[in-house]
Amino acid sequence: MDQEIPVAERLQPITKGKAEPRRGRWAIASSLVLVGLVGGGAAWFHSRPAESPQATETASMVTPTENLLGHLPYEEAPLSQLTPVSADGQIKLRRAAAERFRAMVAAAQQEGVVLIPLSGFRSKQDQDYLFFRVKEQRAQGTRERALVSAPPGYSEHHTGYAIDIGDGQRPDTHLNETFEDTPAFQWLQKNAARFSFELSFPRHNPQGVSYEPWHWRFVGDRHSLQTFYKARQLTSRNEP
Ligand SMILES: [Zn+2]
Repeated sequence: MDQEIPVAERLQPITKGKAEPRRGRWAIASSLVLVGLVGGGAAWFHSRPAESPQATETASMVTPTENLLGHLPYEEAPLSQLTPVSADGQIKLRRAAAERFRAMVAAAQQEGVVLIPLSGFRSKQDQDYLFFRVKEQRAQGTRERALVSAPPGYSEHHTGYAIDIGDGQRPDTHLNETFEDTPAFQWLQKNAARFSFELSFPRHNPQGVSYEPWHWRFVGDRHSLQTFYKARQLTSRNEP
């Protein structure tokens, strides 16, 4: 419980780009970015704007909506939408995500890989404990804590679509970067997309969020897509 569970949907501070007129290709790119902002487009994620300075500037022109210490706000899933994915019933996801997660676990099992859920839905109250009480226990500063834990109201785990996954045969790697060396992670990288799960925070992600190989999210229906790909996430890190 006390591990760095759900770390952080953390973003780098937003750069203050200049809103000067753009030309040529980047003018088009800027327009698309703005259209995406208004319409909730998702193309930004794949375009990896941080590849060039211009792109970074383009993305940072857009004023994102609310974020707190780099974390983005998420609605709490209604309890009626949640269903257990662990044997003890303690770890829950939204139904659509739970169904695909179970199918994914079964498919992995057939290849001798043991995927286990470590943390799923979390209420804002759960996150309150993880952020404030653990911060006190460890005597951490606010910004220090925010590097490894999202403040309540700002965790993907609130949505019921995010799950921390471990390798049942490698408990020593749970919620740790070393998870990337396990058969479970390698299997997930190859197969998770077939079950509509994706890594929320890959290494060098455009948001500048810390790398979390164990933290996966379901994006397999319209609501989950909107939850994670709305234009409010149209931000980019301002460092290479
Ligand atoms: Zn997590």
